[in-house]
Amino acid sequence: MEMSKQRNLPVAIIGGGPVGLAAAAHLVQKGESFILFEAGKSVGSNILEWGHVKMFSPWQYNIDKASRELLEKSGWLSPNDTTLPTGQELVEDYLYPLSRLNELKAHIKLNANVVGIARKGLDKLKGLKRDEVPFEVYVDIDGDTKIFDAKAIIDSSGTWKNPNPSLSNGIWTNAERSLKNQIYYGIPEVKNIRERYKNKNVMVIGSGHSAINALLELAKLKEQYPNTVIYWAMRKQNVKEAYGGQENDSLEARGELGIRIQKLVDSEQIKVIPSFYINNLQKENGKITVKGYQRTKETLIHDIDELVVSTGFRPDVSFLNEIRVNLDPAVESVEALAPLIDPNLHSCGTVRPHGEKELRQPEKNFYIVGMKSYGRAPTFLLATGYEQVRSIVAYLTGDLKGAEEVHLELPETGVCRTNIVSDCCSTETTIIQLESESCCTPKITPFNIEIIKKDSTCCS
Ligand SMILES: Cc1cc2nc3c(=O)[nH]c(=O)nc-3n(C[C@H](O)[C@H](O)[C@H](O)COP(=O)(O)OP(=O)(O)OC[C@H]3O[C@@H](n4cnc5c(N)ncnc54)[C@H](O)[C@@H]3O)c2cc1C
Repeated sequence: MEMSKQRNLPVAIIGGGPVGLAAAAHLVQKGESFILFEAGKSVGSNILEWGHVKMFSPWQYNIDKASRELLEKSGWLSPNDTTLPTGQELVEDYLYPLSRLNELKAHIKLNANVVGIARKGLDKLKGLKRDEVPFEVYVDIDGDTKIFDAKAIIDSSGTWKNPNPSLSNGIWTNAERSLKNQIYYGIPEVKNIRERYKNKNVMVIGSGHSAINALLELAKLKEQYPNTVIYWAMRKQNVKEAYGGQENDSLEARGELGIRIQKLVDSEQIKVIPSFYINNLQKENGKITVKGYQRTKETLIHDIDELVVSTGFRPDVSFLNEIRVNLDPAVESVEALAPLIDPNLHSCGTVRPHGEKELRQPEKNFYIVGMKSYGRAPTFLLATGYEQVRSIVAYLTGDLKGAEEVHLELPETGVCRTNIVSDCCSTETTIIQLESESCCTPKITPFNIEIIKKDSTCCS
């Protein structure tokens, strides 16, 4: 197909979450055609799975600028900037009205699961004139696989459907799969499934915000059903590391999570199992035995009725097999983002402003954005994704200056570390220092990484 014909093709967007819909709104504003595929039965379907959870960023950070402009033109009234929506409110008060706008509605396909993308007629190996042929998007709709041509692709499919397992080495085992009826991945809405958890031995695995949200829900249940025993297993050596910035967090609600969970730990409502590296799950008399080690000591926790696994997510790259993509080997994020967001180095929750240039892939006009662009890193915020797609759409529509000028101000977590001691027990400890004032400074400078050998005396 000649280039001139390609120009008339739409941009394909994979995923109707907030970032995919923001991409659509920016394309509308630039007068560019698009088609958006959403696997779920409605837009925002990943978010609805944690719809009961209150977001920690208020509305002012959660609405994309182009989307707001389109919505306001239609008479939509913006929610109060300073209030915190739940996931469900984000979908009902923002994403639904946005997706129903005339400019978007006709171009959104629901129950449309993207299963593959390729250059027309070319597998990944074929290099000749790849850029000159359009993309083909394979989409499962109504039991059929349909093919759509596109001139560019924005993959905003998130990571929610691809949770990490409980094993600390990240491996999925048949033993874990066979326990699926006793494991919840994510944040259960405990008040709706009390029978499952009340007066039971429940272990939450993970130390991020999702784990804390799950623990807070379980602690509420324990007030009513005091025989509920809550374990909190984590790899962190000290539970304090999981509390985050607390009062220092620029997002009050995010800081509040740490404050509330500390109270529950201090009052022994929650039993913490730190430094716990899980290496096996086993079913014994209908209960789960969680096996692992703490430092060098083998540890077994018996008689667990239910597990809540909140160990993060990883991107699904299965449908990207036939295009050329660069992901960071550790973070699985877009390669250029890894040094900015790697959780081994950063804890701020901020990121340098970035756009099309950093998100560019070897496959021209293919981009990974939103939560998925962060790979396994947990600190993604919507405001980042909105700026990503603004810049990409500017580039795709010929506004190169607009694509280059990226702006982003994110609230810090209040725990911006410039020195991190990785693991007391490892033989090597890495100390990372940034040349800039702190890891939150927008100016990016090369890392200065110093590796020092450490003896193991601190482990005794
Ligand atoms: C519990 C929780 C609380 C959070 N709170 C905040 C907060 O307060 N503030 C903040 O800024 N961020 C927050 N985040 C982080 C982040 O902003 C959200 O995860 C957000 O939903 C990411 O948006 P997204 O559009 O990138 O991905 P998603 O919202 O995950 O959307 C991806 C969409 O793609 C669809 N999809 C997936 N695969 C396919 C496919 N193959 N074909 C077609 N469609 C597909 C999915 O069904 C989904 O609708 C939170 C995250 C979680 C989990």
